[in-house]
Amino acid sequence: MIRLKSVMQIEGIAAAGSIVAEVLEMVSEAASPGVSTGDLDEMAEGLIRGHLGATPAFKGLYGFPGTLCTSVNDEIVHGIPSFDRELMTGDIVSVDCGVQLDGLFADAAVTIPVGKITQNAQRLLDITKSSLDIGVAAARSGSQLGDLGFAIQTHIESAGYSVIRELVGHGVGEGVHEEPQVPNFGTPGYGVRMEPGLVIAIEPMVNEGGRSIRTLDDEWTVVTADGTLSAHFEHTVAVTPEGPRVLTGVHSLTPARES
Ligand code: MG
Ligand code: MG
Repeated sequence: MIRLKSVMQIEGIAAAGSIVAEVLEMVSEAASPGVSTGDLDEMAEGLIRGHLGATPAFKGLYGFPGTLCTSVNDEIVHGIPSFDRELMTGDIVSVDCGVQLDGLFADAAVTIPVGKITQNAQRLLDITKSSLDIGVAAARSGSQLGDLGFAIQTHIESAGYSVIRELVGHGVGEGVHEEPQVPNFGTPGYGVRMEPGLVIAIEPMVNEGGRSIRTLDDEWTVVTADGTLSAHFEHTVAVTPEGPRVLTGVHSLTPARES
């Protein structure tokens, strides 16, 4: 069942979302060669718990141990932060963060370049980020989720990249993962019709190579089957009568940071 959110709830989700945005901004600044994904996780948890009433939403969710999911290079999502995993120049690290505040949840992700990255990696980040922007713009009352998925998919595939099928976006707000599923692929004119009060996490996951995935022995980390790079950007978005509203901050987090 899809639980539409009231205007009050949407404000509450936006308050949680502003903490998520703050975390992602801090982590984007901190992610540099020699810093571990465990360091990033520790910082993120401290920042979240510094806000009265806020907790990391992923920690303990289905048994996940971290505040962040940190997924490096060919890792797509659900990477476990570790003090043994030091970032190196040329890495890309996807950081996914959920925050609970006063019983409401927001969820967002960015993929961060570590030091100087290759042009190919930068292009992957740019296309993935712009596919999220296209998805956000498509979150309009009266349109269907197939329209939104198709818009994202077309942008990604026309750039020569592939869209993962097994992992999708989702409703969010009273919990981290709610109905409906929000695929990054679709057929125009199909799927759930969007209406005001729908709050969804839109999260394209884009592979440089093929779309096949596998899960590592840690039973969490999802990687590309062919070992090519993968990127992930996500926003929590409310469908409103005035159009889509991003609740997890404006990405001043464009991956084009010079370093
Ligand atoms: Mg997420
Ligand atoms: Mg999500």
